[in-house]
Amino acid sequence: MAIAPVKGTKDIYKDEALYHRYVSSFLRSTVELYGFKEIETPVLEHTEVFTHGTGESSDVVRKEMYTFEDKGSRSVTMRPEFTAGIVRSIVSNKWYATEDLPLKMYYHGPAFRYERPQLGRYRQFHQFGVEEIGLDSARADAEIVIMAIHSLSVLGFKNVKLKINSIGDAESRNNYKKALVEYFSSRIDEMCPDCKERLELNPLRILDCKVPADQEIAKGAPSMKDYLSEASEKRFYETLSIINDFGIEYEVDDGLVRGLDYYSEMVFEIHILSEEGKDYGAVCGGGHYGGLVKLLGGPDLPGVGYAMGVERVVSLMQDNHLLDDVKETTDVYVMPIGQDMLDDAFTLTMNVRSLGYSAETPMANMKMGAMFKKAEKRGCKIALILGEEELNSGVVQMKNLETQVQKTVALDDLEDVLNEELNPSSGCGCGCSCDGDCDCEGGECECGGKCCCSEEKN
Ligand code: ATP
Ligand code: MG
Repeated sequence: MAIAPVKGTKDIYKDEALYHRYVSSFLRSTVELYGFKEIETPVLEHTEVFTHGTGESSDVVRKEMYTFEDKGSRSVTMRPEFTAGIVRSIVSNKWYATEDLPLKMYYHGPAFRYERPQLGRYRQFHQFGVEEIGLDSARADAEIVIMAIHSLSVLGFKNVKLKINSIGDAESRNNYKKALVEYFSSRIDEMCPDCKERLELNPLRILDCKVPADQEIAKGAPSMKDYLSEASEKRFYETLSIINDFGIEYEVDDGLVRGLDYYSEMVFEIHILSEEGKDYGAVCGGGHYGGLVKLLGGPDLPGVGYAMGVERVVSLMQDNHLLDDVKETTDVYVMPIGQDMLDDAFTLTMNVRSLGYSAETPMANMKMGAMFKKAEKRGCKIALILGEEELNSGVVQMKNLETQVQKTVALDDLEDVLNEELNPSSGCGCGCSCDGDCDCEGGECECGGKCCCSEEKN
């Protein structure tokens, strides 16, 4: 039996799982500030959702999909991206009619692409992204870009590079495609087999080719900006000026077309420099899309969105030392002294858990030294040592494993002392920054916050 993971997939455990949770929770809370709500759609969709939605000419659909027949002989596909499935859900549920527009949705979950695994590229990976559907405006496009940059800055990234372009409306793109066909036709014999197909299917895709020699040839291609209609140009500059007003630097990248078929008008990508010099590719890609809702059987509503690659974000955060202090730990290790104390240690452990702190205790008698080693391996900050003498006096020995300071704590005071040791900023929990160290009588505190500490003092 093969016990290695399937090529291009990986197991995510402990610290790495925490990194994913950490990243997604910051991304969630940031997009929630903009009014986005979570949506969860199935991993499996009917294959047509992607062949129609994502587009027959995209590499993703042509070469990268995990498609199979289920036992009922239906062709199903494990989502290679979320947008098409989300638009399908809006159409199936008629949310375009029953919900207030624009629909503002965010998602997080695994996506599957049969790609060649390499740095930052997996066959199962996670995307966090957003879709805003039902609003056609340069301002909405700008807000989405601003939100993506905002989200990455909340994670601590400073060296963020925004590349942006407009691929115009359908008319602009048709004229541009003709110009590209003319340009590439004379060079296509020197180009990769994929580009030969792209020339037939969608010449815009050639600009997205990752083969260096083809990229060189593409550098001499006509420029999209010379083919933008007046309306598309105006719209694009309005978006850029809003982004600029927020002090966000950008580079208009004329070769940026994005890999999926549904885009129109503004498209963008975000790249981040790794302090270790590694190139993981873009961490975020997105843009405006026109006819997707209609294409999947709904009304003619536009959308705008982006997707971030969570693995790439995590790797870049690691390289840039933004996760150095993020570690999976258990708060407390309860150490029974001797076999007879196992039951009481177990009860104490349950009490600590009921106070909201994670706690573990051995299930069989262990030597003190071995218990300290275990506590260290599990990243515990506090050891609670319980012997018969302590139990009889209603106390426990508490050792802070970081400072090595040990003290006797009355079991009645355990909650307060654990709060102090493990959650020093919690104070009385009122959120006031003076932590109760004030003379105010409640209400407006001298620290400027709302204080309820006086209730505790009284
Ligand atoms: P690339 O040009 O790197 O192939 P893409 O244009 O195919 O990216 P999108 O479809 O825009 O990617 O997906 C959004 C984001 O998802 C990407 O910017 C990237 O961070 C991430 N991503 C895409 N494919 C993979 C993959 N195979 N493994 C890990 N992350 C990925
Ligand atoms: Mg790709």
